[in-house]
Amino acid sequence: MENFKELFEPLKLKNNEIKNRVLMGSMHTGLEEAKDGYKKMATFYGQRAKAGVGLIVTGGIAPNFAGRTQPFASQLSFPWQVKHHKVITDEVHKHGGKICMQILHAGRYAYHPLNIGPSNIKSPITPFKPFGLTKFGIKKTIWDFANCASLAQKAGYDGIEIMGSEGYLLNQFICKRTNKRTDEYGGSFENRIRFIKELITSVRKKVSSDFIIIYRLSMLDLVEGGSTWEEVVELGKIVEGLGVDIINTGIGWHEARVPTIATMVPRAAFSWITEKFKPHVSIPVVTTNRINDPQVANDIIKSNQADMISMARPFLADPELLLKAKEGRSDEINTCIGCNQACLDHIFQNKICSCLVNPKACHEIEFSNSNLSSNSNKNIAVIGAGPSGLSFAIEAAGLGHRVTVYEKRDQIGGQFNIAKEIPGKEEFHETIRYFKTMIKKLNINLVLNTSVDYEFLKSSDHESFVFSTGIEPRMPKIQGIESDKVLNYAEVLYDKKEVGQKVAIIGAGGIGFDTAEFLAHNPNHKPTSLSKEEFFHEWGVDTTYKNAGALKSKEQIKSHREITLIQRKTSKHGKNLGKTTGWIHRQSLKDKGIKMIGGVEYKEINSSGLVIEIDGNQKTLEVDNIIICAGQTSVNKLYNEFDEKESRPSYLIGGALKASEIDAKRAIDEGVRLAYKI
Ligand code: NAP
Ligand code: SF4
Repeated sequence: MENFKELFEPLKLKNNEIKNRVLMGSMHTGLEEAKDGYKKMATFYGQRAKAGVGLIVTGGIAPNFAGRTQPFASQLSFPWQVKHHKVITDEVHKHGGKICMQILHAGRYAYHPLNIGPSNIKSPITPFKPFGLTKFGIKKTIWDFANCASLAQKAGYDGIEIMGSEGYLLNQFICKRTNKRTDEYGGSFENRIRFIKELITSVRKKVSSDFIIIYRLSMLDLVEGGSTWEEVVELGKIVEGLGVDIINTGIGWHEARVPTIATMVPRAAFSWITEKFKPHVSIPVVTTNRINDPQVANDIIKSNQADMISMARPFLADPELLLKAKEGRSDEINTCIGCNQACLDHIFQNKICSCLVNPKACHEIEFSNSNLSSNSNKNIAVIGAGPSGLSFAIEAAGLGHRVTVYEKRDQIGGQFNIAKEIPGKEEFHETIRYFKTMIKKLNINLVLNTSVDYEFLKSSDHESFVFSTGIEPRMPKIQGIESDKVLNYAEVLYDKKEVGQKVAIIGAGGIGFDTAEFLAHNPNHKPTSLSKEEFFHEWGVDTTYKNAGALKSKEQIKSHREITLIQRKTSKHGKNLGKTTGWIHRQSLKDKGIKMIGGVEYKEINSSGLVIEIDGNQKTLEVDNIIICAGQTSVNKLYNEFDEKESRPSYLIGGALKASEIDAKRAIDEGVRLAYKI
């Protein structure tokens, strides 16, 4: 049995100790600015501390107004704000945890017109040109950081993390890319890091010696004009000398065009840089990015690549990740699949962060206060073992109901079985593994290979019925659609039907993109994910670190097939893909040479291929196959019949309820929420 011994060893600092090697990394949750947000954050962090996290780092809090990421973002600058934070620290301490507050100054990344930077150079990802800081402004910002740290200590935090990476203000001072100053804060490396040196010195003076200072050091900027390796090492040694207790690894500026945390990034892809850095300092070093599994984390500690592991999103997906690992129940971990759909994408839409596989994340109070049914021992039938049905079943069984799941196929998972086939989306296997484990653990009666009908349900003794019968691919009305050349995406991705060399894909939503990625990779229907080396070649990461910023030219992997991705809209392809991942999917297909055509009218499918019209001109795409990825329609006939004829309660969830834009996030959310209502 796994015991993850190394992960649970205490970590000694100069003047403090952390009970294990796991740091819950900083994540903005949106609760920072929400009504009753501090109470909600206390519950959120408290739950993770209770389940054994050694050290928590909060989402970024600004030290002054200019440093806020947005006009209404959270700031700690005044003594009256201390009491709010105390609610959080008290709750974490009650559970034996430790918590540091991250101080984040957004610099030119701030999404408001009063933003500042070392120089007045606009970032490519924000609309506001920053004001270049005056010398007085620099001194004032340093004072604000020290004041913020001192208030954090008064609020009961065990320490702070100074955000020095991801392209925020400190990083902007360090790099030539954004620091064009001609005074003593710009020019030479020594001058460019002067701001950081003065800042850390001021902070250290304002807090006690046992107050933990973590410095998040950008080890890989992944942008032109970023730091050189020698500069990274030098800065690391300097911050150690100034009294920093822990160095955390920062990977990539936000404007970098290299994926750093999305699901196609191989697990622990960036730990090599922490390992390379570690021998240069004697304080503990934390590694991070795409570590979502206790075995991977333990291996890193065991092989001395790092002293601590930072995991952020995995604690949204499962607050008890560490407890389960410790108790030998790691197969029960609800693993973060790196999709960003309910965490980062929510933050970019100004919504409260949550998790696709765990919609209770950041909504803990809402779920604990829900009015559970007085009878939580009902005999419930679930029809359909896709994400919505299974999420309901697991949650309902956990609340005490007796649940039977009927599934017509020979396996559970529904649409997840399609998603897991896409190269780079292998993490979906983990959710299916989690579902399988929980079905067994909670004694859910799973009946596979069984297509139930009304008569069967009528004669059953179930008290309530949940219909999660899913969707089927929508087939558009195009002349010749019945041709043998035409396949729908399920036939390609699930049934693995043979596909020719020249392909037209109708529909450029998430499924169209996924299908193109699948067909581009392998002619024999064997999905292949990228190894770390292939990933670095494909995205141009220079692991020899010869160039500043650690970038090199990309070695693009060309598509195995000639693929054209088509839509009727004239807007950009994949417009509705996730905010934080859409650009990666678009870039990936573009690099592979996939053609994208928009503003199309479909005229006909004939023996030559697909006839389309653009701007009044007709042309034939000569292709072997036309793959339909044109959305879905609900499968809800059985529910309608049952609802009409039966008085026993019945519920419809997931794609069967509404097929339009159904995705796993909505499906799982509906399943979990219904369990609290039924
Ligand atoms: P979708 O995003 O709604 O896209 C459907 C595509 O089909 C559109 O490009 C649409 O473009 C086209 N279409 C719709 N009706 C059509 C018709 N009658 N004839 C021809 N073309 C038609 O649906 P999806 O791709 O099936 O994805 C379903 C859900 O899963 C979405 O919410 C999606 O975001 C999500 N998903 C996300 C990811 C991801 O990576 N984040 C991956 C997979 C799925 P035109 O109308 O312009 O032709
Ligand atoms: Fe992980 Fe996706 Fe959940 Fe975010 S939404 S925590 S990426 S599983």
